[in-house]
Amino acid sequence: DKFGMKEALSLLGIKSENSGASTGKNWLETKGEQISSVSPVDAKVIANVKVATESDYNLVVEAAQEAFKTWRLMPAPKRGEIVRQVGEELRKNKEPLGKLVSYEMGKSYQEGLGEVQEMIDICDFAVGLSRQLYGLTMHSERSLHRMYEQYHPIGLVGIISAFNFPVAVWSWNSALAWVCGDVCIWKPSEKVPLSAIACQNIVQKVFERNNVPEGVSNVIIGDYRIGELLSHDKRVPLVSATGSTRMGKLVGAAVGARLGRVLLELGGNNAIIISKDTDLEMAIRGALFGAVGTAGQRCTTTRRLIIHESIYEDFKNKLASAYTQLKIGNPLDENNHVGPLIDQDAVQNYLSAIEKVEAEGGKVVVEGGVLEGEEFSSGCYVKPAIYEAQNNFSIVQHETFAPILYLIKYGDIEEAIAIHNNVPQGLSSAIMTNNIRESELFLSHAGSDCGIANVNIGTSGAEIGGAFGGEKETGGGRESGSDAWKVYMRRQTNTINFGKDLPLAQGIKFDL
Ligand code: NAD
Repeated sequence: DKFGMKEALSLLGIKSENSGASTGKNWLETKGEQISSVSPVDAKVIANVKVATESDYNLVVEAAQEAFKTWRLMPAPKRGEIVRQVGEELRKNKEPLGKLVSYEMGKSYQEGLGEVQEMIDICDFAVGLSRQLYGLTMHSERSLHRMYEQYHPIGLVGIISAFNFPVAVWSWNSALAWVCGDVCIWKPSEKVPLSAIACQNIVQKVFERNNVPEGVSNVIIGDYRIGELLSHDKRVPLVSATGSTRMGKLVGAAVGARLGRVLLELGGNNAIIISKDTDLEMAIRGALFGAVGTAGQRCTTTRRLIIHESIYEDFKNKLASAYTQLKIGNPLDENNHVGPLIDQDAVQNYLSAIEKVEAEGGKVVVEGGVLEGEEFSSGCYVKPAIYEAQNNFSIVQHETFAPILYLIKYGDIEEAIAIHNNVPQGLSSAIMTNNIRESELFLSHAGSDCGIANVNIGTSGAEIGGAFGGEKETGGGRESGSDAWKVYMRRQTNTINFGKDLPLAQGIKFDL
């Protein structure tokens, strides 16, 4: 325990056996099967969770419905003040929570801390937002009439999250939803349940101090079956789901069939265009971190490099040589750059993608493989690999959630953009160039078709202040900053007649 994990778990209120559902005041006596959270770092069981059943789920939804009745009536700035305190409590718990995220998910400790910092930042953002839930006023076409619009809380928000951001994605949704007057039901990934339990314990301290009713923050742990309950449940008007495109299509169809609202944050297939007018050192750094950070398990991971033919060989050699410097190992050890994949299934997907790219004619630049030895005994540590490939290979069109990078050559910028956009996903994109014509073209209507498009920054990661999300098979949702809050509210247009007549709109006459 040289990383102090025991202490972290105890600070966060994680026991060896944990309940899988909470409505806030208490953890329920859940009645489902027991699952273990196994760390990909060393294959040790961190703790167990008894997952929720359908009847546990119904208890949670009923508590949420009841809580909404009072929470929606609290003034938004007062709700903001409570979210401010959640941010403070997260500041106090940044180190233990960052450590748990790192150990349970396998990302580096620095990235674990970074994730908690994002939670703190979105709380700050939400506090300001709580005084800025603006609607417009319009001039009525009728005399002595006033017209305006207002935003009301939408109600219960279901949050389905993925394993790779065990805590930040929930806070992006919940901090905004709470100031908007909504109540949240979080179904975290069953691969990282303890991080969710820790978050609920942190929020709970603050909510108790402020007499927030039971049911405003709910957690319900289970696999896709709990996700299905949420997506089919008419009592849940908004489902925000982060994960694979496969999952998003199912959730989107289920929520769509009942004409509910979805916010989908799905897979990416992110590329960087490396122009001949690039600052080579910057481009190498951006590509390297983007491709191997979090062991290639970010939705914004760089998966393709589209490189100008005149610098292709040079860039390839320099990048390959940078790969030889990478240290792979325990992510809690700050000397390592690359940690493990989440589990054995992920390792199998990685290996099968390598087989496929080779079968399709890809040429190896940096060889992959699974690492063996005591330090790698979980069997989840793999070597980041690079292949020369064609954009139309079926494996290149597909998001493999692992550190495999494809190199593709281009001749002119229009061709580069066409290659760039020719994938089903549309999350994050970048161009590395000092040429203003190229960068402006890339950002123009005829440029990148992604939700995020950067110049001289890689694809990986984003600031909370902007709206985050992507197009096409990435699902179209936006969360976090800008005006993403609007999805958590229902808009109402109001017209008030303060005159003594009842004029109809469009001058229609209806006299008897
Ligand atoms: P996943 O799709 O396997 O699981 C995500 C969540 O969906 C889990 O909580 C899971 O239990 C739930 N789920 C699965 N099937 C469901 C169903 N039929 N109905 C309801 N819920 C269901 O994804 P994962 O492996 O945990 O995460 C990796 C994926 O997430 C990658 O594709 C990655 O790109 C994506 N991701 C996207 C973003 C984004 O913001 N765009 C962020 C993080 C991760």
